[in-house]
Formats: sequence, C-alpha cells, structure tokens
Amino acid sequence: GVTVSYDEGGERQTASARWVIACDGARSTVRKALGVDLDDLDFEEPWLVVDAEVQGPVSFPPIAGVPEGADLQRLSVMMCDPVRPATVVPGRRDHRRWEFMLLPGEDDKAMSAPDKVAELVGAWMADVPHEIVRAATYRFHGLVAHRWQVGNVFLAGDAAHQTPPFFGQGMCHGLRDVANLAWKMDAVINAGASPAILDTYQRERDPHVRAVIGAAVAAGRYICELDPDLAAARDTRIREEARGKQGETAHDLIPAIREGLVLSGTSGAGARFVQPVLADGSKLDECTGDGWRLFVRDDTVPGEAGGVTRVVAAALADNQAIASWLDQHGVDAVLVRPDHYVFGTASDSGEDLLAARAARLFDYKEFTA
Ligand SMILES: Cc1cc2nc3c(=O)[nH]c(=O)nc-3n(C[C@H](O)[C@H](O)[C@H](O)COP(=O)(O)OP(=O)(O)OC[C@H]3O[C@@H](n4cnc5c(N)ncnc54)[C@H](O)[C@@H]3O)c2cc1C
Repeated sequence: GVTVSYDEGGERQTASARWVIACDGARSTVRKALGVDLDDLDFEEPWLVVDAEVQGPVSFPPIAGVPEGADLQRLSVMMCDPVRPATVVPGRRDHRRWEFMLLPGEDDKAMSAPDKVAELVGAWMADVPHEIVRAATYRFHGLVAHRWQVGNVFLAGDAAHQTPPFFGQGMCHGLRDVANLAWKMDAVINAGASPAILDTYQRERDPHVRAVIGAAVAAGRYICELDPDLAAARDTRIREEARGKQGETAHDLIPAIREGLVLSGTSGAGARFVQPVLADGSKLDECTGDGWRLFVRDDTVPGEAGGVTRVVAAALADNQAIASWLDQHGVDAVLVRPDHYVFGTASDSGEDLLAARAARLFDYKEFTA
C-alpha cells in the first residue's frame, strides 16, 4: 500500500490506500518526491492565452485559399502568420479563446497587461461588444515522464506528460490514462485479476502519448515559424502536400496499443473501437454498457463467458457500423476492453479470444514469463 501525508487546515493528516494515482498537474509534487525525471522533447514556447465573452461574430483577416465570406465562426483556426502566430477557438455559448505566440524579447507580464491584451484581441472584434474574462501566459512544452509507476504510485495526466496544445489532446491524454488504470484496478479488486496487469499501464500509454506529443511538437515548429521566407516556403509545401488529400484529424495520429493486454497479431488488436450512433439515436456504449464486450457477427458465432457482455451485431438496431468493422478486418468476432480498445479479433468463433483474455487477466505473470 501507499501512505500519503497531507496538510488540512494547517494540520498534518495521513491516508493509506492500496494504490495512489497522482494527477497533481504539470508541477506534480508527487512526481518530484518520487524523483521521476522528464524526457524533454525539445519544445518550449511562451504563449498568451486570452478568454473573452463575445456577443457577435469576430472578424478574421483575409486568409489565402479561404474564399471571402466563408463562415469561420465555429471553427478552430490556427493563423500561421509569421508576424504573430495565433489560434482562435470558439467555445460554448459566447465564449471564445485566443492564443498568441509571444515574440523573442517580449515580456510575459507586460504582454498580459489589460491594455496590451485589449489591443491584441480588439482588432478581431472592433464593433462587437465583448468582455475579456481572463488572460494568462503559458510555456507550451513537450515532456514525458521516464517512469509512470513507482511501486503502487501511478502518475497520470499532466503529472506524467505535457503536450503543446496544438491538437487539443492534453486533457484527452489524462482521461485515457485514468480510463486505462481504472478498469484494471477494478478487475484486480472485484474480479480476481492478477495485480501484475497494472504493469502494462506505461507500456500501453507511453507510445500513444509520445506519438501524439511528437506530432504536436512538429506542428508547433511549423506554426511558430517567424521567418517570413521560411513561412512562405512552408505554406507552399503544405498546400502541395495537401493537394488531393482528405484532412487529417487527431484520430489519425493515435497509434494502436502494440503490447500489453491485447492479443497482438490479430487484425485490429489495440485499436480504439468505433462508437457509432445507432438507428434509435443512442450511442453504442449506451446500448451495450462499457465493460468487456464480445461483438459477434450473428447468432451462429459461438462465444460466451462470465464478466463479458455478448453483443450480436446483426441484432443491433439495424446499424451496419459493427458489421462493416468486422468486414474491414475480415473477422467474425471482436473482443473490446472496458476502456474501448480492441483486445483482439477472430474468425468463426469468439471462444479463443475469451480464453486468451482469461489467461492474460488472471495469470498475467506466468503469461509474460
Ligand atoms: C492554453 C492551454 C490550452 C489547452 N487546450 C487543450 C485542449 O484544447 N484540449 C485538451 O484536451 N487539453 C488542452 N489543454 C491541456 C489541459 O488543460 C491539461 O492537459 C489538463 O488540464 C491536465 O489535467 P490534470 O488533471 O492532469 O492536471 P491539472 O488540470 O493541472 O490539475 C491538477 C490539480 O491538482 C491540484 N494540485 C497540484 N498539486 C497539489 C497538491 N500538492 N495538493 C493538492 N492539490 C494539488 C491542482 O491545484 C489542480 O487542481 C490545454 C492547456 C493549456 C495550457
């Protein structure tokens, strides 16, 4: 177990638990106390972030390649302008965020002074009533902890990794971390799984986080380009590369889990499973629950086990998404983990998948030995 000491109202308290998940943010006291170092992915840029309530449309400057009058109001727009790179993000209701790169020599404090902030965002909404609700400067980093687990203490969220926010994935990473840990801890406590399955946490999560942070750092380098000639060359290159291509999303950057609690070598193993909206308007998870699920093509495909929900794709409110997924992978059964990643797939029968799941969950040490 782990004993945590903390102060409450000036008094020292202690709490004991079998495991501790340290989600105490980028400056994580727990990470430092454990002596865990960070891998620096060599990106550090200061940005000013301004939040405002805006009662009306904002005015975008002309953008090459975007027709005049195009509606950009609900889009997140990255202005790769070498004069001052900036991001404009619509929020809920009237909320809108601007992020401005600070240029070499600009002082954090002077740039977040009210008159400077008003000048920077004012140009975007000269005739629109607005109120600035917050302005703060951040250093955008790319960092990943060497170790995500020390004994029974696990680092999660920004305590374990920080990404420049260019793909909006920072909080998503933290949510995936705890989703990964939560079902495994639940399986150990409530289903008799081997505690050693928790050793797969970093092995499963670290490659995902490094791939996405690496891509965000690469995007940051071209977004933050301040040399006008290099910026012009970048624009030409990106337009050429984009010609005839579909847009990429953060989804395309996320690699499958290659090792850990997955049946590597089976088609689609380790990928995130689909979340279609069914014909009755519900989402797949609302209909099936979010524990272990074995999706089979139809009633003829065998596969049943305690602790696993069997879902017959053909019986799902006439939705084709699961059948298409099975077709695409050339299989008849797919076993999905509680965190919605694919454990593995099989043809004809789901029985071998269920046996492989049991072997890994309950005899994990022997299995890896
Ligand atoms: C400008 C900017 C834009 C971003 N945009 C996006 C985006 O679009 N999408 C996205 O997914 N992510 C985005 N992120 C990243 C996202 O905000 C973070 O990844 C996320 O907040 C991390 O969550 P966390 O719970 O790990 O840490 P935090 O949110 O930092 O929470 C840690 C908590 O622990 C508390 N704490 C720390 N130490 C102690 C202690 N010793 N005792 C008690 N409490 C303690 C802190 O007070 C805090 O409440 C952005 C970040 C920034 C800076």
